[in-house]
Amino acid sequence: MRVLGVEGTAWCASAAVHDTETDETFIESDAYEPESGGIHPREAAEHMGEAIPRVVETAVSHADGDIDAVAFSKGPGLGPCLRVAGTAARALAGTLDVPLVGVNHMVAHLEIGRHEAEFDSPVCLNASGANAHLLGFHDGRYRVLGETMDTGVGNAIDKFTRHLGWSHPGGPKVEAAAKDGEYVDLPYVVKGMDFSFSGLMSAAKQAVDDVSTSEASGGPSEHRSDDGTPVEDVCFSLQEQIFAMLTEVSERALSLTGSDELVLGGGVGQNARLREMLEKMCEQRGAAFYAPEARFLRDNAGMIAVLGAEMARAGDTVPIADSAIDPNFRPDEVPVSWRENESV
Ligand code: ATP
Repeated sequence: MRVLGVEGTAWCASAAVHDTETDETFIESDAYEPESGGIHPREAAEHMGEAIPRVVETAVSHADGDIDAVAFSKGPGLGPCLRVAGTAARALAGTLDVPLVGVNHMVAHLEIGRHEAEFDSPVCLNASGANAHLLGFHDGRYRVLGETMDTGVGNAIDKFTRHLGWSHPGGPKVEAAAKDGEYVDLPYVVKGMDFSFSGLMSAAKQAVDDVSTSEASGGPSEHRSDDGTPVEDVCFSLQEQIFAMLTEVSERALSLTGSDELVLGGGVGQNARLREMLEKMCEQRGAAFYAPEARFLRDNAGMIAVLGAEMARAGDTVPIADSAIDPNFRPDEVPVSWRENESV
């Protein structure tokens, strides 16, 4: 079976073709890059309108045969973007006369790791831009064991870098700046398996407010100052705190569920320091750890096509009339039809 995936929840217009016979996935993506500030929903939706036809054409031209189903990100995400990508997917399914599959974007972030690692009963850490969840599979659904009580993890980092005047996305720039940093104390907020970033972000912004940002133009080197906490130190400490919080809750979830498998998903998972901390924690408790390659961690249509294929195989398709997008679609709302015989 060959499934065309369409992704357009926020910044990434992407199309992919997954071939279940060869297990190969071709992905073509086109990122929206705001000129300044963060993601502007209307501009991002305009980007979807321009880029989706292009990425779909490229992906389909690489398919080795006919497309058997079209899968799309039904949510969660930015409404204006989801509507454009959803309309494209419906039009494609109708034109090709194939079934349509509505995929939960967060479940796709973690299922791609399960697909690759073939773990039986993992705890899944979704460290993405707009979300941060710890999930475990139980009784036919992914259950939210813990989550952020305010912003998503990537968005929190991006808000901090926006404060500095750095261009979007901020995560890779913080990772680069952190290499030259030393630890300064910042808040650390974990409550059971939930966690919070807002106090930490305010403290990080305050720490750099003594640092001159008036000439900021998009790079860490612009922000050195003798007057305040060096921005490299704040970046280093921000990463240490955020990733230690995510590692602590992941360990607690492994301990409480009895699972010995951890899967990472989401764009922040591209950060080497986060992966190092999670890997070390898993090693210490004898658990297996899997992080997909970068192209499957950040938003991409490959994960939509891979999960779409599983859902189509299970008959979990949707009539076009019932395929409305859902900007607030939570992972625990999804009956996991494709793993029906599993109950962890
Ligand atoms: P969601 O999947 O929840 O809808 P999203 O669409 O913003 O969120 P992702 O592609 O999962 O998307 O993640 C993007 C986020 O990843 C951005 O916030 C970005 O700053 C962050 N990010 C990217 N690379 C890194 C990195 N090396 N270190 C830390 N964060 C990173």
